[in-house]
Amino acid sequence: MEIVIPMRDDAPRKMSANAYDCTRCGACCFNPPENVAEGFSDYIEIEPGDVLLSKPELVRRYTQLRDGRLHMRILSDQRCLGLAGALGRRVRCTIYHARPSPCRRVQAGSESCRRYRRGQGLDA
Ligand code: SF4
Ligand code: SF4
Repeated sequence: MEIVIPMRDDAPRKMSANAYDCTRCGACCFNPPENVAEGFSDYIEIEPGDVLLSKPELVRRYTQLRDGRLHMRILSDQRCLGLAGALGRRVRCTIYHARPSPCRRVQAGSESCRRYRRGQGLDA
């Protein structure tokens, strides 16, 4: 079965149903290899107006401040602290309803999605 999924950051394309199931992926929740190679751990930036900023407990626990800007905290395996589960198998965002703007912009099946997946070895 083939479906066409409209995407915000990429042209619509045909793809197999379930080909890009976020609950079985999680690649875009990892600091990309090119960032890691350059020594950057500042990956997902929290933007003005993000729901997360209205929740002090989440800000305290899940974010880090670098050069005056808030980012999601990254663990030693380069995953966002908010990600639970095993990459490429079963994952979920533990702060889904308060996830920052950059997380909301990635569309499953888009060019950036596929780049993230390749970066984590999920696609050839
Ligand atoms: S990389 Fe793509 S398929 Fe994987 S979680 Fe992100 S948007 Fe979903
Ligand atoms: S906040 Fe949630 S959606 Fe955003 S990178 Fe972290 S785990 Fe992924």
